Amino acid sequence: MSQDQGTEYKIVDSNRLNIKIDWVCRDCSQEALLLEVNRGRGFSSIMTVHEDTCDICKKKKPVAAPRCFGYLKYQVPTDWE
Ligand SMILES: [Zn+2]
Repeated sequence: MSQDQGTEYKIVDSNRLNIKIDWVCRDCSQEALLLEVNRGRGFSSIMTVHEDTCDICKKKKPVAAPRCFGYLKYQVPTDWE
């Protein structure tokens, strides 16, 4: 996700039941690991992925369940749903 000027972001917790995150890609998860809220966390590089739409960046990518990434918190645009 590019940090465009003027775009505001919010943090979503992929472990919250009221937030609809089925699949996330590795790129988003790598980026999420850099966030202060995920400090000290990490995930295994070995996991089963499949091609689907990432619920964070909305792109078609190799994705896995949020559980596979340790239920990270993700940074998304404020208008993300
Ligand atoms: Zn993504």
